[in-house]
Amino acid sequence: MTTLLNTVEAPPRYIPNDPRPSLIGMTRDALADAMGRAGVAEKQRRMRAGQIWHWIYHRGVQSFAEMTNIAKDLRQRLDEEFVIGRPDIVTEQVSNDGTRKWLLKLAPDERGARHEVEMVYIPEEDRGTLCISSQVGCTLTCTFCHTGTQKLVRNLTANEIVGQVMMARDRVKDWPGDIEANPSPPSGGRYITNVVLMGMGEPLYNFDNVKDAMEIVTDGEGISLSRRRITLSTSGVVPEIPRAGAEIGTMLAISLHGTTDEIRNRLVPLNKKYPIKELLQACRNYPGLSNARRITFEYVMLKGINDSPEDAKRLVKLLAGIPAKINLIPFNPWPGTAYECSDWDTIETFAEIVNRAGYASPVRTPRGRDIMAACGQLKSESQKIRAKERLALDAGA
Ligand code: SAH
Ligand code: SF4
Repeated sequence: MTTLLNTVEAPPRYIPNDPRPSLIGMTRDALADAMGRAGVAEKQRRMRAGQIWHWIYHRGVQSFAEMTNIAKDLRQRLDEEFVIGRPDIVTEQVSNDGTRKWLLKLAPDERGARHEVEMVYIPEEDRGTLCISSQVGCTLTCTFCHTGTQKLVRNLTANEIVGQVMMARDRVKDWPGDIEANPSPPSGGRYITNVVLMGMGEPLYNFDNVKDAMEIVTDGEGISLSRRRITLSTSGVVPEIPRAGAEIGTMLAISLHGTTDEIRNRLVPLNKKYPIKELLQACRNYPGLSNARRITFEYVMLKGINDSPEDAKRLVKLLAGIPAKINLIPFNPWPGTAYECSDWDTIETFAEIVNRAGYASPVRTPRGRDIMAACGQLKSESQKIRAKERLALDAGA
């Protein structure tokens, strides 16, 4: 049994009822328009927006006061109109394998409610992966996934998606100034080298916000993550896959988990709408695929459900012709689930069949299980309580 090393509570950042919008998550055009609200003349808006972009996304500053190449009165004006808000941290937990999990409280929505999402950082020798959420909860109900049991669902805004990356950079000290002061990140020169959209939610059901957010985090004058280091994981929203390839352009991961429609219908109910054949056809058509740029197929190992040698053989056959990586994920249990993780021998046999067919099939080592930070364990418990309370309130109103 692993032990929890650390729980940190950070002070809240948001002032209750603060009407000022956040600049984080605005596209460059929107940011230039916003300058108008702070009294910047039209001709100067692009230039000012460029300066602010640099401070926010390259330097990681958290206040207008630090933007020293901007005149004091404009900084003051900006401060009156806007914030550079990130989510608040409710808790930060550090697992003894170094994995960190944050419970984040989002800025109040239009009803004043403050929802919560979880985010996970997984440091490894050669990379640091940040797993971010795209929705509060998830409308889909994959039967092995804890997030799928959460009732309350809403899309995250671009601000909230980008805000997660910003906040993680704050906490692991990954801004250029921090790195100069403390130069010991893994290879690649950064603590956060990769981002995966594998937290809570189905990113392709929140297409526009995910797209804007990815545009911002890949912008070369800011956070500057390469699209090849970002992976969007989908449970198989087939009609959005071509658009994702054309407009978002990140790497793609598919939560396959079953090799027949019968099994996959049970595990990923969305399969009834978009069966395996259609899903794989969309994968074949995904732009820019090559052996250097493969689709990752995620496959959760569930005891007695999808883990037989026949399943492994069918899996290999299904993926023939698609430049693919197969990621076997030991099932991570959560309270109340009826599933169990496959035995280690079974996983090894499965992996061997897949390997022999020529696929690298790393078994994803469960990380941060002690703090419920592993795949599919994310669920903001407090949200459910609040949803119930809200329903009761609405009923009484
Ligand atoms: N909604 C998206 C992305 C988030 S889930 C999707 O489904 O792809 C990220 C990955 O974790 C998915 O492959 C998902 O199927 C897997 N997962 C969900 N619950 C899990 C669990 N309990 N154990 C292991 N993996 C799980
Ligand atoms: Fe949603 Fe993904 Fe969980 Fe399915 S596995 S319920 S799509 S978060």
